Amino acid sequence: MGRKDADMSLYVDHLLKQQAVMLAMLRAMVERETPSADGPAVHGLVEYMAERFAEIGAAVESLPPSAGGQLRASWGDGAGQVLVLCHLDTVWPIGELARRPFRVEDGRAYGPGVYDMKGGIVQAFFALKALIDLNVRPASKILFLCTTDEETGSAGSRALIEQEARRSRFVLVPEPASGPAGAVKLTRKGWGIYHLTVAGRTAHAGNDHEAGISAITELAHQILKLHALTDYSAGTTVNVGVVSGGRVFNMVADRAEAGIDLRAASNEELRRAEQAIRGLAPVTPGTSLAVTGRINRPPLEATEANVRLYRRAQQIAAGMGFELPAANVGGVSDGNFTSSVGAATLDGIGAVGGGAHAVSEYIELKAMAPRAALVACLLAE
Ligand SMILES: [Zn+2]
Repeated sequence: MGRKDADMSLYVDHLLKQQAVMLAMLRAMVERETPSADGPAVHGLVEYMAERFAEIGAAVESLPPSAGGQLRASWGDGAGQVLVLCHLDTVWPIGELARRPFRVEDGRAYGPGVYDMKGGIVQAFFALKALIDLNVRPASKILFLCTTDEETGSAGSRALIEQEARRSRFVLVPEPASGPAGAVKLTRKGWGIYHLTVAGRTAHAGNDHEAGISAITELAHQILKLHALTDYSAGTTVNVGVVSGGRVFNMVADRAEAGIDLRAASNEELRRAEQAIRGLAPVTPGTSLAVTGRINRPPLEATEANVRLYRRAQQIAAGMGFELPAANVGGVSDGNFTSSVGAATLDGIGAVGGGAHAVSEYIELKAMAPRAALVACLLAE
């Protein structure tokens, strides 16, 4: 017979004693490098995690890279389900670890992927382990879904994420917290990725310049139109982040291209900007435009269900003596998907630190036990 709930101070005390083992697991995870596209490398961490979940008595199912490389680990027999959504991949290529080995210094842990999001996964794992160690029987079954393609757009895992979110009472996403105060990410922008190709006509730049139609001139016009779609007050940005064009300097360019990143805070704005991008018309006679690409993720909005879940987490944190602020961010996560199918989602509940997707990446060790305790309390409910 297990208990239904444990006093939150029990979790904190228990987890404070686990700090050394938490750190050892974090090290093991960071030292298994996991660039999204590298199937065998990513599977090394899938297998490691499968062993760890099996050790604590979770039912584990792991899929090889050819089947998407996911790991599902579930525990408990409660009615209904709570989903903990993690991604094992990082933005770092193999070899980054040699340049920036895992290390602990002045209360911080460093290493590729430590903040986004291996630190948060360790915290969530130990939250589940705390429930088991303290003999707490949560009201719902707990499912950890660990994917391996989040950093490249979640093409292979999206359907499964949405399916599991639909059948979950709520979803916790231990992605990095925002800022030094450890804010959760209450809203995230939606994201679209597009590619613009401009066609013109070649000509000799010296002998026959007026016979050419410069695709580069035309692209310059289009870049200004695209950047004018940015509306900070509406939370919309359009960024041409990559351009290329032409063949050689002494030829009028017949081809130019641009890579476009769109972020918007609402579905309405996302669609408005997408329509404008798709509807671009040439300015220079004789040129033509082709746009490819699509909306990758809907925005994570502060729905009523999300706000309610956040308020509950805030209350629990206050009981443990720390504040849990909320932030609105432009970066996306798989939480965008779970919220948009209607599942109450709390994102950014993971590690406190800084430098996501940057070589300065680190996490704060003193925040690990309290953040894990918060996740444990939420899982127990
Ligand atoms: Zn992440």
